[in-house]
Amino acid sequence: MEQNNQNLPAWDLSDLYSGIDDPQIEKDLERYRRENEAFAAKYKGKLAGLSAAEFYQLLQEIEERRKYASKLGEFAYLNMVTQMKNKEAMALYQNISEKMTDYSKPTIFFTLEINQLPQSKIDEWLSDEKLAFYRPFITRLRKFKDYELSEAVEEVLHEKSITSSDAWVRLYEETSSRLVYTVDGKEYNDAEISKLLLDKDPKVREKAGKEINRVSKENAPLFSFIYNMIIKDKAIEDVKRGFKMPISARNLAENVPDETVKALAETVRSRYADIAHRFYKLKAKWLGVDKIQYWDRNAPLPFCDDVTYSWDESVKIVLNAYKEFSPKLYETATDFFNKNWIDVPPRDGKRSGAFCSGGSASSHPYLLLNFVGKQNDVLTLAHELGHGCHHQLRRENGDLNEFSRMTSEEIASVFGEMMTFQSLLKQQTDDKAKLCLIAGKVNDMINTAIRQIAFHFFESRAHEERKNGELSEDRLGELWLEEMRQSLGDYVVVDDNSRYIWLQVGHFFFLPFYVYAYSFADCLVNSLYKVSRDGEVKDFPEKYLHLLSQTAIGDYNEIFKPFGLDVNSPAFWNKGLDLISEYIDELERLDKKVFG
Ligand SMILES: [Zn+2]
Repeated sequence: MEQNNQNLPAWDLSDLYSGIDDPQIEKDLERYRRENEAFAAKYKGKLAGLSAAEFYQLLQEIEERRKYASKLGEFAYLNMVTQMKNKEAMALYQNISEKMTDYSKPTIFFTLEINQLPQSKIDEWLSDEKLAFYRPFITRLRKFKDYELSEAVEEVLHEKSITSSDAWVRLYEETSSRLVYTVDGKEYNDAEISKLLLDKDPKVREKAGKEINRVSKENAPLFSFIYNMIIKDKAIEDVKRGFKMPISARNLAENVPDETVKALAETVRSRYADIAHRFYKLKAKWLGVDKIQYWDRNAPLPFCDDVTYSWDESVKIVLNAYKEFSPKLYETATDFFNKNWIDVPPRDGKRSGAFCSGGSASSHPYLLLNFVGKQNDVLTLAHELGHGCHHQLRRENGDLNEFSRMTSEEIASVFGEMMTFQSLLKQQTDDKAKLCLIAGKVNDMINTAIRQIAFHFFESRAHEERKNGELSEDRLGELWLEEMRQSLGDYVVVDDNSRYIWLQVGHFFFLPFYVYAYSFADCLVNSLYKVSRDGEVKDFPEKYLHLLSQTAIGDYNEIFKPFGLDVNSPAFWNKGLDLISEYIDELERLDKKVFG
């Protein structure tokens, strides 16, 4: 198999620029500087007097500028990530990023000025037929208007953020990145030690698990202090702005009502036992223990073999899965392979992991992989390709209307993974191999759909209790253990050996109330997938592709209606959770067949 995975394709960035020496790069940078300045000279202080036609012209100018600006940024970034040891590539990225931030400064007035206009002016503009196209963009700009403070206060908040919120996040990140973990005399960083938790040897996993908690405990006084400051800092601002709850600002940014998130969180919690507890009971049996240790939740199963795939096989599996679902989606997907938009092999100096470059609506994205032929690599290809197709299907919305909405950004990717997972499963005739495949999938689903909600309850309680004063390191530990016990159940040991793990969850610090979005996205896709699989809706593929084109600009209450789904109802979330529960039923059946 190994020899098949040599000479894997690299991406061809010439759709952006011909190379690092392309003279067009300098020209575009200069154009960007000039046009931003001209824009400010032409429009600053004059928005209120613009007619609909003039405002339309203005938006077109912004959109045009974004097109080549994002090309510059994207090229610099993509050119760098495959060769991080190349000084020239690094310097180009640094240089372009700095210049673009600098050059865009004259246009900062735009958002502020728009938000000072009376609603009547906005309505007048929006009643114009051509301008109505930009309604999603204009509405998004105005969304925070009611929560804005006076210009003077905004200015102080902005400047002081360097020494308040931003400073705490920076202290958290810098301290975390310096943490050193030691196992058997060998030193590890963050990423390295978490890999040990996936080791086949339970002794290694135990040492790593205990070491992560030990180091966390050692740093708990500082991290507890930082967390208290971050929560308080946010609360001060939230109250001044008039947000009802600590979570409200995040929900507004996501364009999701508070009630929808509440319905999700509570529904997931009501399924802890049926899903997580039941799965960990099985997993304990498979690992040959009465209860699994906290750090063994993601441990590999001792009887599962590693399966490998060649690149060509993987492409075939994924594309066939896409084709079976929808020929149109397949067509969209094939471009990525035929036109060399994917960088496939791992290389020295290449960034790890995988991603789909967002870029601009006016151009196609690129996919970065580090393919070594593991089963997970096949699913990762399906995932990133899903992102890529999702981007392609949204291009008609234009650059200004499009934006990245965490709660639906993962629909196409997770759906693509699911289709591929199903075809892998179909190909599998051996019961043990089937069990391994499904167990891996369920393990991931629980980490996303269930665990992130346990995180959500932890942070919700921390923010709530902080209103009455600082939370001690002890109290934070207690809240953590309570939420972990509830979600993991009786077959997972939750004790002092995992008391300090909360401070490893970076999102609590740098993006409060973000974690639920993972569960939101996963449950949403599972619900959709179930509707599709069970044939509940006529012409599902066409409706689904239309949905993908609307995820950023549509209202969730509207865009899921064609599927008979209502995001505010527990029934919607339960549908997705039922899918995971069904897989666990299947695991129980297979377990009996294989192990008796
Ligand atoms: Zn993704």
